[in-house]
Amino acid sequence: MAYDPSNIFARILRGEIPCKKVFENEHVLAFHDINPQAPLHILVIPKGAYISMDDFSAKASPEEITAFVRAIGEIARREGVAESGYRILANHGGDAHQEVPHLHVHIFGKRPLGRMLPRD
Ligand code: AMP
Repeated sequence: MAYDPSNIFARILRGEIPCKKVFENEHVLAFHDINPQAPLHILVIPKGAYISMDDFSAKASPEEITAFVRAIGEIARREGVAESGYRILANHGGDAHQEVPHLHVHIFGKRPLGRMLPRD
């Protein structure tokens, strides 16, 4: 599957549509989810054109991977959830219901987050 440059997060990265930005550096952008599932719900994305963690883990440079992981930790600390706890989640592909085909890690926090996965 090829990267689709018309996906919504690619459009945010190009500045074509707005976002509520919380963090940005050379390799990473983070913003509030438009439909929050918790009092804190932030999406962290690499600036590079990666479809998902599968793509990113195989093809991203060491600098991009380091920047991405460090950004997640820094954002959580800045947002005040490093002490209280938070959850990170990245959906890849159909079984995980990935909606947007640009890698994003969700950061959830500021409430008890319940079970890791719902029981079927
Ligand atoms: P996923 O199911 O992991 O692909 O999650 C996609 C997430 O992107 C959902 O939580 C959406 O609410 C969120 N989302 C979609 N469009 C936007 C947008 N324009 N700005 C911020 N978040 C968005």
